[in-house]
Amino acid sequence: MNEPIVDALRDRLGDAKVQTGDALDERRFDYWVLSHLRDWRGEPMERPGVVACPESAADVQTIVRLAGETGTSLVPFGLGSGVCGGIQPDPSVILVDLGKMNRVREIDETNLLASFDAGLNGLEAEEAVAARGLTIGHWPQSIAISTVGGWVSTRAAGQFSTGYGNIEDIIYSIEAVLPNGDLVELGKAPRAAAGPDLRHLLLGAEGTMGIVTGVTLALRRQPEDRVYAAYYTPSLAAGFEVQRNIVQAGWLPPVMRQYDASEVARNFKDYTSEDRGLLLMVHEGPAARVAAEMETVYEIARKGGLEEAPPAVGPHWMEGRNHVPSWRQLFEGNLIVDTIEISAPWTRIEAIYEDATASLRELEAVKIASAHSSHVYRTGLNLYFTFVARHEDSADMEGTYLDCWRRVMEATTRHGGGLAHHHGIGRLRKPYLEQELGESGAALLRRVKQAVDPQALMNPGNLIPDA
Ligand SMILES: Cc1cc2nc3c(=O)[nH]c(=O)nc-3n(C[C@H](O)[C@H](O)[C@H](O)COP(=O)(O)OP(=O)(O)OC[C@H]3O[C@@H](n4cnc5c(N)ncnc54)[C@H](O)[C@@H]3O)c2cc1C
Repeated sequence: MNEPIVDALRDRLGDAKVQTGDALDERRFDYWVLSHLRDWRGEPMERPGVVACPESAADVQTIVRLAGETGTSLVPFGLGSGVCGGIQPDPSVILVDLGKMNRVREIDETNLLASFDAGLNGLEAEEAVAARGLTIGHWPQSIAISTVGGWVSTRAAGQFSTGYGNIEDIIYSIEAVLPNGDLVELGKAPRAAAGPDLRHLLLGAEGTMGIVTGVTLALRRQPEDRVYAAYYTPSLAAGFEVQRNIVQAGWLPPVMRQYDASEVARNFKDYTSEDRGLLLMVHEGPAARVAAEMETVYEIARKGGLEEAPPAVGPHWMEGRNHVPSWRQLFEGNLIVDTIEISAPWTRIEAIYEDATASLRELEAVKIASAHSSHVYRTGLNLYFTFVARHEDSADMEGTYLDCWRRVMEATTRHGGGLAHHHGIGRLRKPYLEQELGESGAALLRRVKQAVDPQALMNPGNLIPDA
């Protein structure tokens, strides 16, 4: 990093908000498996030139304006839990760590709104509203290791999304600093018909369109009742059909998760020794609605040929649901593992499952290829594939890893599915984004980026397909 830029940052922000040294090592990459593999193998991983730690939106404006004047690139950093390589700075970059912007700004119990600084840890945000008997209802597995600004920037989905929606359904307003240094507040009422919804420029932009500095989320009152239910599925198709019938009839258990037999054998072996799948549900809300939903869903499941499983499956899942894997332990055991989430309409999802898992199993190194669904819509659902590959020599892991991803992306495209349900694009999926958006769609995204960030300073190399 050019010393005068570091000096100018110190002048304008104060020394305490500018970090060099070890702080650079700690922010070299996010949770992407491949970055961890390269680092574990001792491959050189570049560091940002300097870390800026703003404490307010005004500080972010100062940083962005300095970047514009000097033509310096910026990489926003929440808590680094992204899994697609969205954070890969080099020494020419100012990394903007939002960690000091961690205030609960306001909780409005009448309008059910809560405003937070963008760098606030997600679990701390949830705990702040829970203390008032409220909930955000957004429970990504990474809730304790991600920020509310990161949720917006990656279009995150929580485990209770079937009932409560994804982050784009929960967001009320977004405060952000644009690449020209302007501060915008997008969204100020429950709904607007005021031209295109500009919040969507930042939802899923992964740091390429500006820096989110604050978010206001719509809350819920904590549910009166919560009940678990579970069913064995004789086939994947039977479980999908039951889920379709439930949501299309207007019932919305916040959690519906269907596991294939391979995942049942790994994660729920105490609940069945047979080779079969499992559908677990969490019903919650007003007690009368929960009771009615349980009863009707039970009937739909029975008619669909599903057999009741012990409801204890639900609490078992709840207890272990936020486990964060250690990639390094897996590498040391000669394994590389990842998950890939896609989505598709009901009529296409099974073909994608069959094609993708068969294609993964063609690789000799792949020991496990499985999937579950976890986010359900009237129009279809997601699939969350897991692959586990084994190599004695870690030098072979990267090739297999990328091949696994290519196979799932291609199988999904072949059958008309969507390539990214909630983890975003980063550098990992960037080569496939044109498959998702089409050539004209990708060209439109590049033009939007050019208009918003004409100097191309915001998180360069991330998300936007190269021209
Ligand atoms: C174990 C594990 C489980 C996970 N489970 C889920 C899950 O259930 N659901 C889900 O959706 N995701 C999940 N993720 C992925 C990840 O946690 C989410 O993408 C999360 O939203 C990222 O938040 P973060 O604050 O860590 O962002 P980071 O990783 O720091 O950043 C992610 C991207 O957003 C940009 N960015 C971050 N903050 C800002 C900001 N304030 N303004 C502009 N750009 C910004 C970064 O530049 C980067 O490109 C999981 C990850 C792990 C490791």
